[in-house]
Amino acid sequence: EASLAEVDPQVHAAIAAELGRQRGTLEMIASENFAPLAVMQAQGSVLTNKYAEGYPGRRYYGGCEHVDVIEQLAIDRLKALFGAEYANVQPHSGAQANAAAMFALLSPGDTILGLDLAHGGHLTHGMRLNFSGKLYNAVAYHVSEDSHLIDYAEIERLALEHRPKLIVAGWSAYPRQLDFAEFRRIADLVDAYLMVDMAHFAGLVATGLHPNPVPHAHVVTSTTHKTLGGPRGGVILATAELGKKFNSSVFPGQQGGPLEHVIAAKAVAFKLAGEPAFRERQERTLRGAKIIAERLQRPDATAAGIGVVSGGTDVHLVLVDLRHSELDGQQAEDRLHEIGITVNRNAVPFDPRPPMISSGVRIGTPALAARGFGDDEFRIVADLIATALQPGLDAQTVLTLADEVAALAERFPLYNGYGQ
Ligand code: PLP
Repeated sequence: EASLAEVDPQVHAAIAAELGRQRGTLEMIASENFAPLAVMQAQGSVLTNKYAEGYPGRRYYGGCEHVDVIEQLAIDRLKALFGAEYANVQPHSGAQANAAAMFALLSPGDTILGLDLAHGGHLTHGMRLNFSGKLYNAVAYHVSEDSHLIDYAEIERLALEHRPKLIVAGWSAYPRQLDFAEFRRIADLVDAYLMVDMAHFAGLVATGLHPNPVPHAHVVTSTTHKTLGGPRGGVILATAELGKKFNSSVFPGQQGGPLEHVIAAKAVAFKLAGEPAFRERQERTLRGAKIIAERLQRPDATAAGIGVVSGGTDVHLVLVDLRHSELDGQQAEDRLHEIGITVNRNAVPFDPRPPMISSGVRIGTPALAARGFGDDEFRIVADLIATALQPGLDAQTVLTLADEVAALAERFPLYNGYGQ
């Protein structure tokens, strides 16, 4: 069989270049991680060839005896990891998990209540151009202006006023934990379903370092590639009673053949997530984010107009507030890119700048924790970022910072021996 390098040198070269980028820079996009080699091996396997519409033991295709074993392992491991009665591992992505969950519980025109995108919500929680904003009557709740914390009083007020059929708890850019019991209390007040989208913090939940939404929610959705550290994909968890609705909503409702190669990679990731090394990594992830939040509030950073949304973090990310800085979000993202640190610009609550520019950057620690970073390295990274975001930085300092980043990256080899 001809290798990728022989069949398609262009794609091969671009993949090699991407591997070099991942190795040589510091990845701090909060939604990213490094999937272990074992996960990538499962995903890059012959399972990509197999059609398996249906569910284990109830397929519409022959020859499913081995993929049945794999999908059942993934389901059982996922249920055990989060203490759920029901699990579906087939959604191709987080967005599709959310679509399937909503399709199962709602009819077009129903009202949903979710966190405003501009305050840290996700597109699928009711954004105007997303299916969730087009199919449903989406109402948004917010964080409060003084504390930057979710305003539960507003959620209750909006719920009583708009009578949503579904309330979404979950976020893409919010540095604190949610009060799932309070969300459920409000949902019950108006007889709404509570859906928790734990895409960002699932790895923390799996290791007991974040409250588990499963006992509180009617349905929990997630991605598998963020803090959970698996392949790109989605999952749905629920009570046994509601489970049937979600099975038919994913297939045949949303999707055709499941990606059994990705499901195998999910199964491997769920196994790893139950091991002590994964918990220790999540602990480093959390401590790293706290260190960054603290050090970005050192006096020279504050003097340069750098702030931290909500004054800190309880999770794996820090939302840097640049509303009072000379640098906007775009410039800050570019500056960090110049020195070899990858982040994404992000709106902060009550952001005066347009979303494409924004007044913030979102900084996450999961990928560096996966690489082996501990407190000492996160202190260095925090100080590099704090210095890099000073206005009027001269070219020589930028070069010095870039050298320091490169040296740090080199100390923590990534995918040793892979791609040779
Ligand atoms: N839900 C939340 C909270 C997210 O942050 C994301 C991804 O950014 C998604 C869902 C969507 O996941 P995917 O990109 O796999 O569709």
